[in-house]
Amino acid sequence: MKCRKCPAQAVLKLPRHNTAFCSTHLTDFVRGQVERAIKSQKMFHPNDRILVAVSGGKDSLALWEILLKLGYQADALYVDQGIGTYSQTSREKVERFTELVAKPCGATLTIHHVEEEEGANIPDLANLIHRPTCSACGTVKRYQFNRATIQGGYDVMATGHNLDDEAARLLGNVLHWQEEYLQKQSPMLPASMEGFAKKVKPLYRLTEREIAAYAIVNRIDYIVEECPMSKGAKMLVYKDVLNRLEAESPGTKHTFYFQFLKKQAKAQPTQGSMTQTDHATLKPCTSCSQPTSTGICSYCKMVARAKTATS
Ligand SMILES: [Zn+2]
Ligand SMILES: [Zn+2]
Repeated sequence: MKCRKCPAQAVLKLPRHNTAFCSTHLTDFVRGQVERAIKSQKMFHPNDRILVAVSGGKDSLALWEILLKLGYQADALYVDQGIGTYSQTSREKVERFTELVAKPCGATLTIHHVEEEEGANIPDLANLIHRPTCSACGTVKRYQFNRATIQGGYDVMATGHNLDDEAARLLGNVLHWQEEYLQKQSPMLPASMEGFAKKVKPLYRLTEREIAAYAIVNRIDYIVEECPMSKGAKMLVYKDVLNRLEAESPGTKHTFYFQFLKKQAKAQPTQGSMTQTDHATLKPCTSCSQPTSTGICSYCKMVARAKTATS
């Protein structure tokens, strides 16, 4: 199979675009889609400082690499969850990538150690407060990434969510008719009040498969294994269902998600932004002053409970 743009051998077939690309043109295609996402959603400007949330997986490392290659100022934050060899390996991948790719571009990596800062690793923290591991992990990561973005003076925080992630999340929200979540599901969430960072997902136009191929041809070394705690997670089931639909009719994922975004924009011109009630109910946490709807934010509550349980 030949590349659609040159005589070279194709490395990836893209049935949803009815095309195929060699490694050079695949790279152009992927970076072009990211640039298009950034511009069409007004994610950030060339002079903005970006903080990328990296995990060691293909999506976040590819995102960091693409932003640097496109000439943006992008630093990264890695949260070490303390989940055995999984965390160790993913951290090594992030550190190696930083040395090889990010540092030569003048970018820096910050590592947040959950065990040191929160007093227990993620699995222990979840046990102590009787909550699922992924929920405790989500609370810590959301909190730390937001705080690092604000305190580091960054204009925006970027995550590696791709089209598969967003379509799976949409399917979950629709299946349960989570109207409140549907309202807020967007590739761009503006900074809605003092203390909440602007959040963007520049990979939302690209599938997992396209990003994996990009990472391989651009020699980005990433951790292939999923987090061992995510086994049996609902999101993986939704992704599997969507992949089966995609195999039957290419473009299903894209249509599902992009038609949603279109309808959402029509229904509420300020799509993705917070509603009036959010503004009315949010106030600074009495302990850490990050915004929350309760007196003490869920992160501070979790850490306080963990501290009493261990003391
Ligand atoms: Zn080509
Ligand atoms: Zn707090």
